[in-house]
Amino acid sequence: MNTNKTIGFIGLGHMGGPMVANLVKAGFNVRGFDLVEASKQAAKANGVQIADNVAQLVQGASVIITMLPAGSHVLSVWRELAALVAQDTLLIDCSTIDVDSARKAHEMAAEHKLLSIDAPVSGGVVGATAATLTFMAGGEKAAFDKAEPVLAAMGKRIVHCGDSGAGQAAKICNNMILGISMIGVCEAFALGEKLGLSQQALFDVASTSSGQCWALTTNCPVPGPVPASPANRDYQPGFAASLMLKDLKLAQAAAASVGATTPLGAEAAQLYNLFNALGSGGEDFSGIIRLLRGKEG
Ligand code: NAD
Repeated sequence: MNTNKTIGFIGLGHMGGPMVANLVKAGFNVRGFDLVEASKQAAKANGVQIADNVAQLVQGASVIITMLPAGSHVLSVWRELAALVAQDTLLIDCSTIDVDSARKAHEMAAEHKLLSIDAPVSGGVVGATAATLTFMAGGEKAAFDKAEPVLAAMGKRIVHCGDSGAGQAAKICNNMILGISMIGVCEAFALGEKLGLSQQALFDVASTSSGQCWALTTNCPVPGPVPASPANRDYQPGFAASLMLKDLKLAQAAAASVGATTPLGAEAAQLYNLFNALGSGGEDFSGIIRLLRGKEG
């Protein structure tokens, strides 16, 4: 428990809202800021002091966390922060953003003699609410050591992946595996159905064989075999297809920037792009089985 450390938190949306609530529960003094009034009011109801602006938010805060939509938002907010905060303040970005922007943000922090880590998360709103997120962190060890007890109040697993940007790199590599493997699982169920194989039989075999993966055993894209999977509630997310598309695009941009060959990642991005364009971005990403089945899906 920490009762005397003030944390500033910028971005009180779907993820940031429950994350600040857990920081308050852990005994931190939390000051929050967002552009949306409803998000500020929800955080206030959970014990967060609401700042009128970033300058007010940073007063006395030794740690500032950002949880924002994209790299451009993070760079613009960190630029503002860098000019305002005292030396040795720790900046933690938990957003999912492109690796290049993450590295630029670290450089900006270093120029102002600030500590910084990129620490994107896995676990979604459910994990943010239950304080069971996984954090993938990139940055210097001194910054990581200072961040760890703060992140521990919001998650159950914190992995130091390497230097600046390594957390974002781990996040997009992991989610590229996830997007590709979900499409593979969906194709297998769609093929099995056409071959007259029951979904339960395919699940019973693949979940205990070499086809086993998270997309099958936790987020199974057909209703029945895994009662908690989004397929059982008409593909209400879960992990929205629009967010999967975002992460696959970040993976493709990163692959292009370093000349990595990722043909299946590229194909997965195309399929999720089509799924989103057809109006299904708000569905769980496992709903792509309906697209892969064709018209009757
Ligand atoms: P969200 O849109 O609900 O929240 C983002 C918040 O940032 C909004 O409330 C917005 O008003 C605020 N914001 C934007 N610009 C701002 C600024 N300049 N100053 C202050 N506030 C500002 O998004 P989310 O679902 O909470 O996701 C946040 C990040 O976490 C994203 O990068 C996303 O990719 C990542 N993520 C989301 C999930 C998920 O399941 N939602 C899972 C893992 C990672």
